[in-house]
Amino acid sequence: MQLVTCRIGLDDTDHHEIGCTTERMQDLIMHIIEQTDCEILERRLVRLWPFAERRTRGNGALGALLKMPIQQKELLIQICNEWFSRMLSIIEQYPKSEFAPSPCLLISFEPLPEEWYWQTVRGYVDPEERFHQATKKNCEIIHSDSKFGVVGACAAVAWSPREQSTWELIAWRQDSRIGKKRVLSKESVQTLETEHPRTFMNRDPTKGNGIIAPRTPCPVLYGIRGSSESVVNEAHSWLQKRNDVESCHSFASHITNQLSDDHIESMHSGTVTSMPSETKGGHAFTRVFSGISSEKIVAFAETGPINRTLRKLIPGDRITWGGLTSPDGAIHLEKLRVNDYSPRILGRPVCCSRTMRSAGKGQDLRCLKCGKTENKRWVCEGPESLSGLLMGKWMEPSPSNMRHLSKPISHIEKGTR
Ligand SMILES: [Zn+2]
Repeated sequence: MQLVTCRIGLDDTDHHEIGCTTERMQDLIMHIIEQTDCEILERRLVRLWPFAERRTRGNGALGALLKMPIQQKELLIQICNEWFSRMLSIIEQYPKSEFAPSPCLLISFEPLPEEWYWQTVRGYVDPEERFHQATKKNCEIIHSDSKFGVVGACAAVAWSPREQSTWELIAWRQDSRIGKKRVLSKESVQTLETEHPRTFMNRDPTKGNGIIAPRTPCPVLYGIRGSSESVVNEAHSWLQKRNDVESCHSFASHITNQLSDDHIESMHSGTVTSMPSETKGGHAFTRVFSGISSEKIVAFAETGPINRTLRKLIPGDRITWGGLTSPDGAIHLEKLRVNDYSPRILGRPVCCSRTMRSAGKGQDLRCLKCGKTENKRWVCEGPESLSGLLMGKWMEPSPSNMRHLSKPISHIEKGTR
């Protein structure tokens, strides 16, 4: 029996009636396994450019690698087509909204260029153009009226996992439970973190709550992130044995590009050149000069410590930052460090409880009461009084406000996943 590797990518199926893309992919894979001799080699969850149009905050596409008998190629494509038509007919029963899904299922028996992934994680990709490129690579593309989903589906197939790639196990809910309150105790998530230390991003310590369960009424029970497949699998079986955790319907482990920082090209260092400004909603921005160009950096209210730090910056402060350049050219900060600060001038020295004055250009400072004179100088504030402006310490949003793609500072410093 001659075997062949098949790659499947799926994107843009999120719909309130048919569920999220992760669960759709699970459903498709179950159909394939039941009707063919395919073996699942790998499942992927790939997060993409956060500024892509029509996207939710997560912006993720799903992928799978299958090993299958070459003579079942046609059968597989037929199963995929039938499955896709059924899904479309359900979506079409509902009125079209602005965020109507435009699902795309891509099947390729060849690897796709890895640069397709990099283009999609760092910027805008034209769906029509990618569609034509994929057609040239002999991909089977099943899509709805629009072709938006092809970009993510291609990226999920084109991505090459690396040794340091992280994992996420997703558990889905029983049909009868969907829409009801999730049973997942606070204690179970807290203990998960201590009992399974190689899982991560389970809780937000700044808020004291678990973040493994979504807040939307979607079919996902929880997602456990960790450094390897066995780590997330063990954590899941441990959770499922507890009586304060809902029993799942099914689950699957995905290798992911989460916590990779793949969306950020590099960190930059430079000097602050303006006073911070505040916009509606508590967001703040300032300008920096990197030695090559002048940039606007923005810290949204949700970035917490980054936002608070940026508000205290003044011209001359030296900083290092990492963030995503938005389509309007501003850099949305995800990491920030103050390397050195310029002096904060409080005023002229004080004598006899009064500010010393200069009598004129080229003249010393003079106390008007006792007549003492002093060289002209300013009194500056030291770092100890600049509370919150910690030199050399990285700032980042709390885990619940961090992008899936972002690598937490603790992981960078430990040099681990
Ligand atoms: Zn005096």
